[in-house]
Amino acid sequence: MALTSEIKSQLKQYLALLESEVLIEADLTTDEHSQQVKDFLDEIAQMSDKITIVEGELGSRKPSFTIRKKEKESGILFAGLPLGHEFTSFILALLQVSGRTPKIDEEVSKRIQAITQPLHFETYVSLSCHNCPDVVQALNIMAVLNPAISHTMVEGGMFQDEVKSKGILSVPAVYLNGQEFSSGRATIEQLLEKIAGPTKEDFSDKGIYDVLVVGGGPAGNSAAIYAARKGLKTGLVAETFGGQVMETVGIENMIGTLYTEGPKLMSQVEEHTKSYDVDIIKAQVVTSIEKKETIEMTLASGGVLKAKTVILALGAKWRNINVPGEEEFRNKGVTYCPHCDGPLFEGKNVAVIGGGNSGLEAALDLAGLAKQVYVLEFLPELKADKVLQDPANETSNVTILKNVATKEIVGDSQVTELHYVERDTNEERSIELEGVFVQIGLVPSTSWLKDSGIELNQRGEIVVDKYGSTNICGIFAAGDCTDSAYKQIIISMGSGATAAIGAFDYLIRQ
Ligand SMILES: Cc1cc2nc3c(=O)[nH]c(=O)nc-3n(C[C@H](O)[C@H](O)[C@H](O)COP(=O)(O)OP(=O)(O)OC[C@H]3O[C@@H](n4cnc5c(N)ncnc54)[C@H](O)[C@@H]3O)c2cc1C
Repeated sequence: MALTSEIKSQLKQYLALLESEVLIEADLTTDEHSQQVKDFLDEIAQMSDKITIVEGELGSRKPSFTIRKKEKESGILFAGLPLGHEFTSFILALLQVSGRTPKIDEEVSKRIQAITQPLHFETYVSLSCHNCPDVVQALNIMAVLNPAISHTMVEGGMFQDEVKSKGILSVPAVYLNGQEFSSGRATIEQLLEKIAGPTKEDFSDKGIYDVLVVGGGPAGNSAAIYAARKGLKTGLVAETFGGQVMETVGIENMIGTLYTEGPKLMSQVEEHTKSYDVDIIKAQVVTSIEKKETIEMTLASGGVLKAKTVILALGAKWRNINVPGEEEFRNKGVTYCPHCDGPLFEGKNVAVIGGGNSGLEAALDLAGLAKQVYVLEFLPELKADKVLQDPANETSNVTILKNVATKEIVGDSQVTELHYVERDTNEERSIELEGVFVQIGLVPSTSWLKDSGIELNQRGEIVVDKYGSTNICGIFAAGDCTDSAYKQIIISMGSGATAAIGAFDYLIRQ
């Protein structure tokens, strides 16, 4: 296993941060997979005199290894190779086991340490899954902070029989004490809430914010920074801090930054927001908004937050096809993340619903490993760019079906068939397959605003003026949840800034 010289030089810098000696205890056999893991670990150990490798017996999964201090178990185990997107998880585990404090809120750290019941997590990942490291890293942090918690990352490629026998068709798939626990991307706060229940935080002591931002994506953070820089008492409440950007692998259009990755960008954005006096409240969902003497926002957890002005930066989420079977077979063949779940469909028939850019990108990616890929487009023509249509048309195992409506996804414990209707003849047809990748765009996260009095357009987007104001004085909106013509990170950040300055102007006129 040869690490590239670029990775090695980055690695050297990280390994210099090891706080104390760590032991990697490896359980290997003589097979090819074990040899790969051995080569990988040897190469890492050669780069730091603080790392020692020893042999050990770690259970039934081979190859596997644990990272621990000489005198103390850590509860962190890697089964298979932590390469690809999991390489960072491996490095962070090394540093945290060595004694470096994980970068999480103190409150979250205290809640983790207060857990008393023994919890053993297992997370199945694919190395191309960009949603997996968040979950792996969160559970590793929990294991480092609390001896009652342990966590094993299982790399699906090396443990295919296990993945098959468990029927895992979507990663990350987390098991707790042997039972299915969660699936898909989740933050440490969300996992903690699932383990320990909702934070019983009482928000009554928060007082009245000048500006309360709802949303932790690019628009929300930009709005919060601009508001705080105006000296306003600013809060930011978000269900999933980071927003859609956390699902983005490569970003090449942040002006001034040639290339970055979603999680990296949003961690820098978080650091930037935290450098101002912004009260960040994570893992809380706002369920209603009402303008009384102040604007009152009710949270799903029961709390109420009050503000003189509110900026809604709610973003968007994947659009569902809304056909029978979609909900029932979610994570059992129906998926929204080709990068994450593609490798689980190797050699199988799959469908991609949607012939736009994301649909054809997914189809081309999947064609490399699936047996046959069917693209189903509702309209008579594909909407994707020609640069994607041409290779898709030329790829022998991609079949494009135009002018068809998906009618139903059927199966038993997992997806087995997809039924669709040819729209010109009304004839119903079916395809035998095991995976359905839904790629039909996004919808604004505004369904809860329907009866709020805030004006929405036909697409459910919040209608705003050039100051970012909605039709209700004091309530502003920004980013993908608004009726802005285009949806991009930089546009969201710009509109967040506009809404914050709009809110400031509104406040000084009061
Ligand atoms: C796969 C993918 C790739 C992309 N690639 C690029 C790219 O390369 N370049 C680019 O410029 N753009 C890209 N985009 C678009 C870009 O990510 C969005 O335009 C941008 O994230 C919008 O920012 P936002 O803050 O408006 O919304 P979001 O990023 O969607 O953030 C919304 C926030 O609101 C929170 N929220 C929603 N409802 C509630 C509620 N009721 N209570 C509390 N919190 C709530 C969410 O949890 C989240 O924190 C991509 C999008 C996707 C999906």
